[in-house]
Amino acid sequence: MKRDIRLAILLLSIISLTLAVATAWELWAARERILAKAYTHNLNLTQALDTYVEGIVTQSSMLLLGLAERLENDGSEPAQLERLRHLVQRQQPLFNQLDGIVVYDASGTWLMSSSGDIPSGASSADRTFFIHHRDTPSTDAYIGEPIRSLYNGQWVITVSRRYNHPDGRFAGVISATLGVENFLQLFGKIDIGRHGAIGVATSNGQVLVRYPFRPGDMGRVLSRSPIFTQYRDITTVGTATFTSSLDGIERLYAFRKNERYPLVTSVALGKDEVLAAWYTDALRTVSIALGLLMVIVIIGCLMILAIKRRIGAEALLVAAREELLRANRQLEVLASRDPLTALRNRRSFDDHLAAELRRAHRERTPLGLLLIDIDYFKRFNDTYGHPAGDDCLRCIGRLLADNVRRPGDLTARYGGEELAVILPNTDGAGARAVAEQILQHLWQSNLPHVGSPFGRVTASIGIATLPPGSDASAAALIGAADQALYRAKAAGRNRLDSAPDLGGTPA
Ligand code: GH3
Ligand code: MG
Ligand code: MG
Repeated sequence: MKRDIRLAILLLSIISLTLAVATAWELWAARERILAKAYTHNLNLTQALDTYVEGIVTQSSMLLLGLAERLENDGSEPAQLERLRHLVQRQQPLFNQLDGIVVYDASGTWLMSSSGDIPSGASSADRTFFIHHRDTPSTDAYIGEPIRSLYNGQWVITVSRRYNHPDGRFAGVISATLGVENFLQLFGKIDIGRHGAIGVATSNGQVLVRYPFRPGDMGRVLSRSPIFTQYRDITTVGTATFTSSLDGIERLYAFRKNERYPLVTSVALGKDEVLAAWYTDALRTVSIALGLLMVIVIIGCLMILAIKRRIGAEALLVAAREELLRANRQLEVLASRDPLTALRNRRSFDDHLAAELRRAHRERTPLGLLLIDIDYFKRFNDTYGHPAGDDCLRCIGRLLADNVRRPGDLTARYGGEELAVILPNTDGAGARAVAEQILQHLWQSNLPHVGSPFGRVTASIGIATLPPGSDASAAALIGAADQALYRAKAAGRNRLDSAPDLGGTPA
């Protein structure tokens, strides 16, 4: 039963644990799937944006290459520059992202701007891109930091290259300015949620464009930010999760390095936004699982309670049965005992004698019977009163019980003041010995009896013995003992007499 409870608890625990683990596993797996999907989505988007940005830079480079070629061949006289300006103005409608072209001389002074008049005294000698070209002989295109256009104050990115004198000396710089606004317009059309971000940066971590636009971000160098340290080491693509130190929002980043230019495109989605649907699903799943768990626990508790009740009921039943058995045994004792002397009663004597007779017949063993009658007991009562007579009877009962101690022997109150002893497997001599001992001990007890000629309580005993193999009945055995008792009385009392052997020969 206790085992049943333990098994029930074990079963409950296993079911609950399985449910909890399965739910947690499923939720975790679903979350991982969603995050993986978001990363894939971001990576795909970086691919498209990278291609877009690369296209614009390439287009700018090609344009610059053509213009530089002319400057190097035709020189930078005002007439030549005017022709260049016209050429650019004709190309501009074909190149939406192009804000303008500016030509600088070797000192950084503006020679020509496709946008129109040159701001007076305009010089870009201190711009990073200019210093780069002046100090680097390479004629490769250079992507500069975002700057505010001297012309209209708008944020622009410069793609520039140097042009040389015929002898290879530095002659100046020609730059294409790309309006950041154009990039932002495109990026703004892409759905990246409320907390998403799209960025283009140089490989050094300098922000060129960021959507949503924050003026503070322009030109910011991310070289120490965790996200940059992540993508500095990657070859082409990478992903990362990173909590912004600016707004505290955790984002999923995917970034891609351009294969041709030192550019990195990144797309980020707010992690909470990505997982929003999952949170709802998870909440529902957890609620259902918890509900289920509660139902299981309730059913389990009811089950355990039922088992406990059954255990209780069974314990009660066992106790009741034991009580009943005890009561029965007591009843049996009561039914078989004489209340005054605590010896067996007549009924028990009869049953026992019949059983012992059967056994004696069966096993061919002898069986002895003593009938004991107290001498002058009527007088005892008359002299000392009936209660004293009862006490005397009790006393003699104890004496008998003390003298007849072999297992299987039985002492009974046969009736009135007559007592009987059944002695299984005892022959005539054995029975006589027991009877003599009883008489002797009674004599020694010296119970006063002034009404008796002996001056003390005495008894007479009639002995009958069933020899082995005899088939005499209980009545015959009792009759023989009774007659022997009668003879003992007649012979003067305080003595014993044996009946002739029921098999024929005297014991
Ligand atoms: P004897 O046997 O020596 O011939 O004389 P007796 O006086 O004992 O004669 P009998 O055996 O006929 O007497 C039986 C008396 O035993 C009758 C009754 O007063 C007494 N007696 C029988 N049963 C009880 C009992 O339960 N309690 C008491 N106090 N006396 C009993
Ligand atoms: Mg009598
Ligand atoms: Mg008597």
